[in-house]
Amino acid sequence: MNELELELGYRKRANRAVLLCMVIFCISRIIAEVLAEGSQFQDVVKIMAGACIAMLGVLLLQKANLKSAPFIIPFLMYIVYLISSYAIDSYKYFYSVYLIALIIGATYFSIKNYLIFISVTQAMNLLLSIFILDGHPSINGSVWMHFALILIGSLMLFVVLYYAVNKSNEIDRAFASFGALMKVTPNVLILIDEDNKIKYLSKSVCRVLDVKETGDFIGRDFLKLFNEESVQELLKDIAKKRSFYENYQKITINGQVKTFDLFADKLSDEIKDGMFFMLNDVSEIIRLKEMAEQDSLMDSLIQIPNRRAFDRQISQEWNYALRDKVNLSFLMIDIDYFKNYNDTYGHRQGDELLKVAGKTFKSSLKRSTDFIARIGGEEFGVLLHATNSYQANVTAERIRKAIENEIILTANGEKTRFTVSVGVASVIPSMGMESSYLIEEADKALYNAKQNGRNRVWVTDLA
Ligand code: GH3
Ligand code: MG
Ligand code: MG
Repeated sequence: MNELELELGYRKRANRAVLLCMVIFCISRIIAEVLAEGSQFQDVVKIMAGACIAMLGVLLLQKANLKSAPFIIPFLMYIVYLISSYAIDSYKYFYSVYLIALIIGATYFSIKNYLIFISVTQAMNLLLSIFILDGHPSINGSVWMHFALILIGSLMLFVVLYYAVNKSNEIDRAFASFGALMKVTPNVLILIDEDNKIKYLSKSVCRVLDVKETGDFIGRDFLKLFNEESVQELLKDIAKKRSFYENYQKITINGQVKTFDLFADKLSDEIKDGMFFMLNDVSEIIRLKEMAEQDSLMDSLIQIPNRRAFDRQISQEWNYALRDKVNLSFLMIDIDYFKNYNDTYGHRQGDELLKVAGKTFKSSLKRSTDFIARIGGEEFGVLLHATNSYQANVTAERIRKAIENEIILTANGEKTRFTVSVGVASVIPSMGMESSYLIEEADKALYNAKQNGRNRVWVTDLA
């Protein structure tokens, strides 16, 4: 809600209070007149006519939203009242009008100034009625009747002013909180009017949107906050729709792509009204999330993809091969007599062997599409995209030989060697076939490689 709306809302309620006060005041004034000694029908009519004019005045003022007139009018009325209380007989009508004008003025002018103005003039009135006007020929009845009238008027003024001052304090407080929020919120908050001009900006705009001074943008088109055309188009579109919510919206800020939760909505249900935009920069959260996701797909010991990454990859590769009707080859590699190695040199040395094995496998793969993962304790899987059994055999042999040539030093400086057996399966996937079939066949091939003496490659062509 903006300053103007808050004020208009309060004005509406204050206006209602003014009208109520005026009606009560006029009725009580008429009753007082009727009850007064020497009351005349003419006086009652004059007061009623005055009240009607005053009501019209209120309604006109409510429409015109005048600035200083509501202050000047009661002030002039008071002067006229003071003069007339000596000079002419019917000063009391001026007094009625003065009170009404004051009530009207109180709602349109600075409430606190009015309170002082009214307190002073009302005190003067009381003194005037008690000490000076006592016995004045124009007073019908006693001076106490006059005093009672002033008291009623003052009380009603007090009610209106109390209400108005309270309301204005409430607005002040609401604005103080709003201002504080705009200063501290880490989100980018942009409030625009119906012409897309900026009314309010949160301080965070400087940091997040890389803007020097938020004040420079107030009153300007909100799209000016963004340099990139694509972002301007997006926001223009949202401004047209008048409501939008999107998580992880990529937005380029000065050439740098950032991720935002973007939320926009209209300020009210009126067709022609402003909107607000809220941009929550989640780039850092997304970066950490992606890092964590990457981590969860890596084997921490060997620094190659793990079983989970392998499962994802094989289902992707399977679908590509199915679509493109090409071979998908799978190499299942197992270290020979690894248990023995562990038993002889210790588990830690076994880990060293695994690291060396992982590195050697990686460096033996030539194509960027070749994918290796650790799929078990000392088992590794290689996926070769669009590769037939013959080519897969070549790669498997390259790996086997590379491992054969590796020498691993133990902590004591002892040279150790190891070998691997590789089971190869290759298939052109067809509908109804599952990727687990390829794994099972590679496993069988590996078994054959082991059975036939280890340190060898066994190929099964399923194509
Ligand atoms: P084969 O030639 O038939 O494959 O014999 P093998 O001894 O390699 O086979 P087996 O499956 O019996 O032994 C696998 C061993 O791998 C058992 C386990 O202690 C070891 N192992 C599994 N994961 C790790 C690991 O992370 N580090 C170490 N050091 N050893 C591991
Ligand atoms: Mg094994
Ligand atoms: Mg083994």
